[in-house]
Amino acid sequence: MTAATIDTALPPSLWAKTAPPALDLPTLSGEVEADVVIVGGGFTGLSTALHLAEAGASAVVLEAAEPGWGASGRNNGQVIPTLTRADPDDLVALWGPQKGEQFVRVLRDSADLLFGIVAKHGIDCEAVQNGWVQPAHRKSRLAISAKRAEQWGRRGAPVELLDRDRCEAITGSPYWYGGWQNRSGGRINPLALARGMARAAVSAGAKVYKGTPATGLTQAGDRWRVTTPRGSVVAKRVVLATNAYSDGLWPKLAQTIVPIRSYQMATQPLSENLRRSILPDGHALSDTQGDLYFFRQDAQGRLVTGGALVFDVDSERRLRARISERLQRVFPQIGPVTFDHVWWGYIGMTPERLPRLHELAPGVVTWIGCQGRAVALGTAMGKELAQYGLGRPADELPIPLSPLRPLPFHVAVRTLARGMLLLYRWRDIND
Ligand SMILES: Cc1cc2nc3c(=O)[nH]c(=O)nc-3n(C[C@H](O)[C@H](O)[C@H](O)COP(=O)(O)OP(=O)(O)OC[C@H]3O[C@@H](n4cnc5c(N)ncnc54)[C@H](O)[C@@H]3O)c2cc1C
Repeated sequence: MTAATIDTALPPSLWAKTAPPALDLPTLSGEVEADVVIVGGGFTGLSTALHLAEAGASAVVLEAAEPGWGASGRNNGQVIPTLTRADPDDLVALWGPQKGEQFVRVLRDSADLLFGIVAKHGIDCEAVQNGWVQPAHRKSRLAISAKRAEQWGRRGAPVELLDRDRCEAITGSPYWYGGWQNRSGGRINPLALARGMARAAVSAGAKVYKGTPATGLTQAGDRWRVTTPRGSVVAKRVVLATNAYSDGLWPKLAQTIVPIRSYQMATQPLSENLRRSILPDGHALSDTQGDLYFFRQDAQGRLVTGGALVFDVDSERRLRARISERLQRVFPQIGPVTFDHVWWGYIGMTPERLPRLHELAPGVVTWIGCQGRAVALGTAMGKELAQYGLGRPADELPIPLSPLRPLPFHVAVRTLARGMLLLYRWRDIND
């Protein structure tokens, strides 16, 4: 039940350079009481706190480093209201019509919820809601585009199936065969959003502590006590919002997912001509490849992209070469590329590639397994978890409850999982 010590410095990301300064937050010292204590200050934890505070409940966030230090401040900033693999009909088949459709509604509305929070609280985070596009990298993958556009369209999402010409106009590249877009998606500066959400939560009355790792969690009568190095919080309900950065606080939780490194890179600001030629309408893009191609511009016209590696040896040099070649292949107009920033973060994968919800004990809940796609979903899950904090039973939340399923031989699985990238690359070429 002891949390590992983490390096609390922010990674040297583009976002650390360009996000507005963080609110000056305290560290916890002494004992405080609250209706709900939330461990983890990413989009999930901060959105939970914001929604609780807005509902009049007392909420305390304990963040080991600072808001946005985990995946929330390191990601590509694509606001994507879908999962990576499972489509709405799959979710209904797997989870049943009631739970499946409930989750699909939450996911469908997740990008609007996020951009609504940004607008309501005036969060300065380079927000652009001009759509998220998923182009097909092979003709055979156009069937996926058609399926997704049909299933989401049937459920009222603002989607469009794209033929090759329209896809080229949106992406600025002839590389893809067509695809689909969801107009409610978009892009943000993720660290700026996390900092803005923390500010909004504090303004609404929540208490957010930085530099405060939760090191123990014990029952105290009908409440829970979360201990930290210099204090503790006693609360009726606990939300663990630690996701891929889960540590030893709840035994075996960290062993239920495989944390995969995703590298992010940002080019120098592009020329005006290139900005008008590559993703000219401000879309965020993630294509159909398992070894994902993903791109978006930031507010200064840098292209923010990245990739994955099977071995983390000499990573930065290999990535610069690999992604530079990729950019020139996909966007030939770009010419020679230099990257000003390279950083990485952990994505939490489950074997079934679906998020999980656990009520770890009466009054303690967590969702985990973002699959690299929960900027919008984490924010939406925060709103749902706030309902749990207010007394809603866990089985009414939008993901089916399941028992903890730690992966056997976790260390070996973590290592082997990287090899999956080779399989994805093979499928990207042959499927
Ligand atoms: C490199 C990368 C790129 C990505 N790109 C995208 C994208 O473009 N679009 C998209 O939708 N998703 C993307 N994702 C996924 C997305 O970033 C995450 O799903 C989302 O940010 C998860 O938010 P969270 O709040 O649940 O967890 P996190 O943001 O990871 O927050 C967990 C927090 O818990 C804290 N913590 C852990 N243990 C303790 C403890 N004991 N006490 C106190 N605090 C603790 C950590 O310090 C951390 O800040 C990406 C992820 C990565 C890593």
